[in-house]
Amino acid sequence: MEDKQLKPNALFNPDGDTDLRKRRLIGGNTTNLNDFNNMRYSWASNWYRQAMNNFWIPEEINLMQDTKDYPHLEKAERTAYDKILSFLVFLDSLQSNNLPSVSEYITASEVNLCLHIQAFQECVHSQSYSYMLDTICSPEERNDILYQWKSDEHLLRRNRFIGDCYNEFHANPTLFTLTKTMMANFILEGIYFYSGFMFFYNLSRNGKMPGSAQEIRYINRDENTHLWLFRNILLEMQKEEPEMFTPERVSVYESMMKEGVRQEIEWGRYVIGDDIPGLNTRMITDYIRYLGNLRWHSLDMGWLFEDNRSEPADMHWVADYANANMVKTDFFEAKSTAYAKSTAIVDDL
Ligand code: ZN
Ligand code: ZN
Repeated sequence: MEDKQLKPNALFNPDGDTDLRKRRLIGGNTTNLNDFNNMRYSWASNWYRQAMNNFWIPEEINLMQDTKDYPHLEKAERTAYDKILSFLVFLDSLQSNNLPSVSEYITASEVNLCLHIQAFQECVHSQSYSYMLDTICSPEERNDILYQWKSDEHLLRRNRFIGDCYNEFHANPTLFTLTKTMMANFILEGIYFYSGFMFFYNLSRNGKMPGSAQEIRYINRDENTHLWLFRNILLEMQKEEPEMFTPERVSVYESMMKEGVRQEIEWGRYVIGDDIPGLNTRMITDYIRYLGNLRWHSLDMGWLFEDNRSEPADMHWVADYANANMVKTDFFEAKSTAYAKSTAIVDDL
């Protein structure tokens, strides 16, 4: 398979094209000027506004009840809480560091604007986990949780899958390694976070750690927009770079997606299993397979699995928590802020 080597965009490029018809996602000749009135990818404008409206501050969420609940969590709940946080901190850190590298090869300034905002939001997410840990546990426990991914074999193995894909792109930036990185991004945003999110929502519906669940809802709202962004990028790529979507290459992406689903289920069994009240391995398996189907289908790729094509009935409470409008209502009822102008997320996934 032929593969195009990529060169990073010139930073200062007075000879760049200003003609919109010549603008491309990758391989264009960009001036890098942020021109908000002339966008080739008009969805970037809606995305930008939504992301700006979603601005939030982790410390505005009250964790008082969580400081009382945390020492009384059952052993399995506490172990899961720590391991899932360790995983999420790693993922958000990885995202905030990798997105600027993706931008170096994107030649549509309106899409780069979005990627920069996403990188900023991933920084806020990492910081929100720090705030949670600083509030509910001692500095020793916090450090142990932050770096658990280095010593827990299972966790390290998980982080390797996406980490290696990003590393391959860094070592050898080609059109194919970049496309795989975008797919890895989509898997991370659309599958990897979800065992974690559902665990916190489940604790909350059992009356535990409500502040943590609220933090996660804000993170979840941002992650939904990140999925929206990468879905649009991948759909545009299918039009602009058809040679990256030959049946041979699509089968590579499909295997990545299936492997992501497999790992997320395995992780859910390891970290949640059948020891947490309100969840079990069957629920986790059905839900993650359903997400795999939903994500793959949203890229116009068909279905990943024969079964689990609709939301499992006993998992609907996850969507209730993740629903962006509910987040908005709770948030703005609790606080009056100058930036309280959010509109509903258009969830077209
Ligand atoms: Zn994030
Ligand atoms: Zn994200």
